[in-house]
Amino acid sequence: MSQADPRRIVPRTDVLLAHPDLVAAAARHGTRAVKEAVRAAQARARSGEITPGEVVAAAQAALPARSTTLRPLLNATGVVVHTNIGRAPLSDAALEAVAAAAGYVDVEFDTATGARARRGRGTLEALRAAVPAAGDALVVNNGAAALILATTALAAGREVVVSRGEMVEIGDGFRLPDLIASTGARLREVGTTNRTRLADYAAVVGPDTGCVLKVHPSNFRVEGFTSAASVRELATLGVPLVVDIGSGLLAPDPLVPDEPDATTSLADGATVVTASGDKLLGGPQAGLVLGEAATVERLRRHPLARALRVDKLTLAALEATLRGPESPVTAYLHADGEALRVRTERLAAAVAGELVAVEGRVGGGGAPGVPLPGWAVALPEACAERLRRGEPGVVARVERGRCLVDLRCVPPDRDGDVERAVLAVLAVLAALTPED
Ligand SMILES: *Cc1c(COP(=O)(O)O)cnc(C)c1O
Repeated sequence: MSQADPRRIVPRTDVLLAHPDLVAAAARHGTRAVKEAVRAAQARARSGEITPGEVVAAAQAALPARSTTLRPLLNATGVVVHTNIGRAPLSDAALEAVAAAAGYVDVEFDTATGARARRGRGTLEALRAAVPAAGDALVVNNGAAALILATTALAAGREVVVSRGEMVEIGDGFRLPDLIASTGARLREVGTTNRTRLADYAAVVGPDTGCVLKVHPSNFRVEGFTSAASVRELATLGVPLVVDIGSGLLAPDPLVPDEPDATTSLADGATVVTASGDKLLGGPQAGLVLGEAATVERLRRHPLARALRVDKLTLAALEATLRGPESPVTAYLHADGEALRVRTERLAAAVAGELVAVEGRVGGGGAPGVPLPGWAVALPEACAERLRRGEPGVVARVERGRCLVDLRCVPPDRDGDVERAVLAVLAVLAALTPED
């Protein structure tokens, strides 16, 4: 090695790893990742690409800004429950509960006696307090799991009676007939696509019936010459009645009058209802089973329940959602039109965009017929991709050749971030477009 060889002056790995900035980086990213970044930076210094004095900064810069590859996004689509970007955003209260539950926690432990206790009992109490019509409650991994558990426990080897009008595909691989088939129950279809009467069910219900299942066809509507048997009618058949309400509304909400809710379904005679935790309830991904105590207990004792159970983080987030302040989903659904207009006007003025009236959506396969009147800033369509890829990523809606930025589902304290993101994208586009 010659005197001038830069390898002589590039600091050694152990020396670099002792640098306070890299010690801090190792606490966040792990020693292995920092070592790799240091080695890469040393190589760049040896090749002369950077100076030896720049190695620490280069290693730091090469480490990711976040500890996961999941990128937080701002939802400017106006679609409240957007499955592709994580459905329901958690409330601050739920986030705090998740952080508190992350360590050791009494999820299944009685601190008074030191003995084992019912798992997630606080969450179950909160559910029962929210739905007094339910004798008991159970939480599983998601809505599909709740439905699988209910049909397996009640009808494996027997029949599940379902209307042909409810043979739905909810989204991404959730097809009701396939799901029922996977449980070992036999599907017994009754009625027609547009009309099914109580008599159609009554004609097939017998000793081989495990349960009658009523599914809310949440993502489409059949209009015209239609009829369906009500929960109240089906409850007279004398067999267990499972009602999959889907969206997780615990009580009626006048904003979405066609969405079934747990309280009404149970009052009308459902044996159990199943629902998702991360749709209109606005909580974490979870499946809820609410209803008659003996039936819920039968589901809880089924071996499959163990495989579908939720972790402490979900239990914590769900309880905080149930007990805590209004969820972001509820706030966005009921967003005040006037306040939305003022925020959107401010953004339109700041970015010289056009204020337009738009309709937001409930989303998540729910309430397809319910428009949410609101406002957006219309920008050139080319903005959408750059906004998505920006930092922070902003997901806008592309409609008829325009990029619509809708603030309905943006926390108001993030309006400034959206404004900066839009201004940055417009500046880049202006630089790309030659002046004429
Ligand atoms: C969304 C939905 C499901 C599936 O729930 P996941 O929580 O997504 O598993 C089942 N049934 C209905 C009616 C739904 O709307």
